[in-house]
Amino acid sequence: MNTNGLDQLYREVILDHHRHPRGRHKLHQVDVEASGLNPSCGDEVTLQLELDGDRIRDVAVDGRGCAVSTASGSILAELIQGLTLDEARRIAELFKKVMHGEDVPDEIDMGDLEALTGVRKFPVRIKCALLPWVTLLNAALDDAGAAREPGGTGGAVGGEAGE
Ligand SMILES: [Zn+2]
Repeated sequence: MNTNGLDQLYREVILDHHRHPRGRHKLHQVDVEASGLNPSCGDEVTLQLELDGDRIRDVAVDGRGCAVSTASGSILAELIQGLTLDEARRIAELFKKVMHGEDVPDEIDMGDLEALTGVRKFPVRIKCALLPWVTLLNAALDDAGAAREPGGTGGAVGGEAGE
């Protein structure tokens, strides 16, 4: 399966992020780190956050995988920088709902993330798109209690990434 069935605009956004992933840099200081794995596709992602209080000062995303998971991690890096952990969690939870079939709410600007909603047509790709966001929820927001869901990729979080 590939991305040929996606609308042209969506495909371009995803490919742009895939070719030029954001967040591929080292942080001055790592306050939060987590890894996630999507075994059904072989995607791996490692997220690092640099915090200023509860605000996300900088984001680093590393990993490897398909275009969809790479693009999703890149969009995450772009989108959550400067937000509070709470705001980032809200976007992650919203994105999960949208990927599971809910409409994109008008009042929230999801940025390039909206392009990834085109992936809903391909159920096997939904986990690819959600991997960085599920990893974020498990990483930064452990005490929130709402982050873990059966059937998600959360079970693999904390495993080794890379070789
Ligand atoms: Zn994938």
